[in-house]
Amino acid sequence: MDARRTTRELPAVNRVLRTLPPAGPGGHGASRAALVRAVREAIADLRREVLAGRDPGPAALAPEAVAAEALRRVATAAAGSLRTVVNLTGVVVHTNLGRSPLSRQVLSETADLLAGYTNLEYDVPARRRGSRNDHVASLLLRVVPAEAAFLVNNNAAAVLLALAELARGREVVVSRGELVEIGGAFRIPDVMAASGARLVEVGTTNRTRIADYERAIGPDTAMLFKAHRSNFRMEGFVEDASWEEVAALARGRGLSSVADLGSGMLADLPVPGAADEPSPAAIVRAGFDVVCFSGDKMLGGPQAGVVVGLADAVARMKRHPLARALRVGSFTIAAMEATLRRYLAGRLDEVPAVAALLAPASEVKARCARIVRRARSSGLPAGLALRVVSVAAEVGGGALPGHGIPSHGVEVRVEGASDAAVDAALRAGDPPILGRLTEGRVVLDPRTLLPGQEDVVVRALLGLPAAIAEATRDTGD
Ligand SMILES: *Cc1c(COP(=O)(O)O)cnc(C)c1O
Repeated sequence: MDARRTTRELPAVNRVLRTLPPAGPGGHGASRAALVRAVREAIADLRREVLAGRDPGPAALAPEAVAAEALRRVATAAAGSLRTVVNLTGVVVHTNLGRSPLSRQVLSETADLLAGYTNLEYDVPARRRGSRNDHVASLLLRVVPAEAAFLVNNNAAAVLLALAELARGREVVVSRGELVEIGGAFRIPDVMAASGARLVEVGTTNRTRIADYERAIGPDTAMLFKAHRSNFRMEGFVEDASWEEVAALARGRGLSSVADLGSGMLADLPVPGAADEPSPAAIVRAGFDVVCFSGDKMLGGPQAGVVVGLADAVARMKRHPLARALRVGSFTIAAMEATLRRYLAGRLDEVPAVAALLAPASEVKARCARIVRRARSSGLPAGLALRVVSVAAEVGGGALPGHGIPSHGVEVRVEGASDAAVDAALRAGDPPILGRLTEGRVVLDPRTLLPGQEDVVVRALLGLPAAIAEATRDTGD
């Protein structure tokens, strides 16, 4: 084949554009600039094919075919990549699935604010500049009593800022049992290094006593730091200095004290292990100068790092140059205020992550039974078997590790299909349905089922045998 002759057969950009229907209602809805770019890309790809000696065929070179390809490219790009998934994994604060969903009520209050200008940094009656840091504080301090509060981008940022302001260039004493890694990227020793503070490890992996902290304090010590172990639990021969002991020692020696709590449980939750989970209010009462936790773990709000503590320490953190780099925007402030308002009003049913943790096992069982009943009454397709089983859900987000929450799920089997095939077909749906594939069975735990998703699940179950048959045909096995 003669490559030079074939590249001359490529259509010109303008010829392709002329074949497109006009944009607008009934048309394709893509801007001219986006289309021109997509047409150029499609032609460039064809040119590469031809020059490489591969003949795309005369049909692919037709202006209409190139136009259709360009429209397809614009549509794919416009779809973006962030999409809804249905979380039926039994993990409530699922770090890979966006942690805490926000309720329609919280989002609608947030949207009302963000659709217009706000007093984000303006003191309206005084006609002067205000501070974005003042907004959440009064609400937050009603839920977590402390002298002062403010928000940063996430909990990792809160810890970084506390270390950078209160201990830069000096020593911070931490128990070896608390040098944790969270979520693969947040490691206490690395954050410490990034902040410019020097880590002094004390005790052993399994036992650290208050005397170990005491011995490590020297002229260069600035802070005692205590982290919640969060995502793992140690059993057996284990001893820790208590939060109260560490805070009292720091105060007695004139040192700062910072607690990294991770999850930030603000509500009394009837889940196993919750009684041992330190609440931010309890750690403030224990005497820590600064307490940091995430906004989107057990609190159930937007991604944020919450800082509460002594007025002086918090004010210093707000003034640090990094505070500007780690600050939150009005979306976070509005969504956090809307979430905290639910706590004050006792409307935790409107904080989805907390509502999911509050749901008794009997309620989750009733949801399972309803899903199965609805599927049966629509006529179960041949080969599909559904059964309600007992399972253990988890808080997730590194909170209450090792404590299962009694829950229920719908076990899904399709005759002749492996459990991996059932799981894959549910994942391939739109939206994808993510269940739990363990011990050779697929179980959907509706503890985290959100309003409106029951229909989606029932429909996916009814279509499952057909979807599996189709997937098997496609892969030819
Ligand atoms: C989750 C967690 C972090 C990180 O919080 P982000 O909000 O994800 O930045 C830090 N420390 C502890 C103890 C945690 O559990």
